[in-house]
Amino acid sequence: MSNLAKLLNKIYSAETPDLKDLEQVLFLTQRGQLDELFSFADKVRKEFCGDGVLLRGIIEFSNFCSQECFYCGLNKSNHKLKRYRMSKNELIEAVNYLAFCNIKTLVLQSGQEDNLDALWLKDIILEIKSKFNIAITLSVGEKSLDEYRIWKQAGADRYLLKIETFDKKLYESIHQGMSFEKRIKCLDDLRSLGYQVGSGIIIGLPGQTLKTIAGDIAFFKKMDFDMIGIGPFIPHENTKFSKGKPGDVDLTLKTIALTRLVAKNPHIPATTALGSMDKDYRVDGLKCGANVLMPNFTPQPYRKFYEIYPGKRCVDEPVGNCNFCMDGMAKNIGRFIDYSIGDSLKFRDGSRDKGKLSPLVGTVLL
Ligand code: SAM
Repeated sequence: MSNLAKLLNKIYSAETPDLKDLEQVLFLTQRGQLDELFSFADKVRKEFCGDGVLLRGIIEFSNFCSQECFYCGLNKSNHKLKRYRMSKNELIEAVNYLAFCNIKTLVLQSGQEDNLDALWLKDIILEIKSKFNIAITLSVGEKSLDEYRIWKQAGADRYLLKIETFDKKLYESIHQGMSFEKRIKCLDDLRSLGYQVGSGIIIGLPGQTLKTIAGDIAFFKKMDFDMIGIGPFIPHENTKFSKGKPGDVDLTLKTIALTRLVAKNPHIPATTALGSMDKDYRVDGLKCGANVLMPNFTPQPYRKFYEIYPGKRCVDEPVGNCNFCMDGMAKNIGRFIDYSIGDSLKFRDGSRDKGKLSPLVGTVLL
């Protein structure tokens, strides 16, 4: 067994991964060694998730945002961006098409809209749940426990809130006016209400190091997320990080692979950001641990205005095109599109720890 194989086995088998081991793997650059890591992660993906590629259809229903994230094109100071919020009718029409395309998970995403009417969204969730047999993932940012509860009771199944980095100092230095503890509390609140919870990080944020990423991977394991999104940073000209360097593709893939080794069975998307670099690297993501793709169902003319970063994939494509493309992507690598609802694999045997404490703030997780 090669030294690398021994190291990967050690990481895979550890109850708590050693940060130095993770850092050592993140540091690798030799093609042969990367291939060994990616193929190990691919086997773990096959063992825990199978060969199906799940689809999460995303509708970006509003780009209003009251936050000042230094990397994101939706930041409130970007006055060049045309803002929009889809009407209820437009949204339901878009969901109708998504369901017609046989997509079983809808992701409803917006910026951090402080004026988002919780009851408006509740009505939409109720209507979608009464008409379509699909799971709903919300991704509308930091909200109160009451708002999260209203939407859960209306039928929302899952919630996506990326932490972006688990390094508190780095987090607060790139999210002006935001609190790391508040973000963690939101994640805990969501879990306590019974949502399947997703989070994730950006690779290549200015100020991030390999040590930061190793810490993030270890936290993924502790937080036991149902879904974990890992995408490269893409600089946007109307942000504080406009002059930043794009995230490294190999480092993003290494992080996906290590996350799969350490966390085993969360759903991991080959993110749209990974598909929006100098070329489309989503297949590479699928080959090193990812098991999810996210077709975009945001209708025109809104799609181009959800510009979190430039060069986003398929902004000019008609809605629905993604389906054909994703089917081909999966088939080309001997996989298939899994059109099932794709719930969290953590619930399958009812084995999720009850009463587990969040490692960060000590509040109760499910
Ligand atoms: N407002 C919601 C929230 O706070 O979770 C969700 C929307 S947010 C615009 C969607 C995600 O886009 C962020 O969590 C971040 O990871 C990603 N993102 C934003 N700007 C990015 C950039 N320049 N490069 C890569 N990913 C970016």
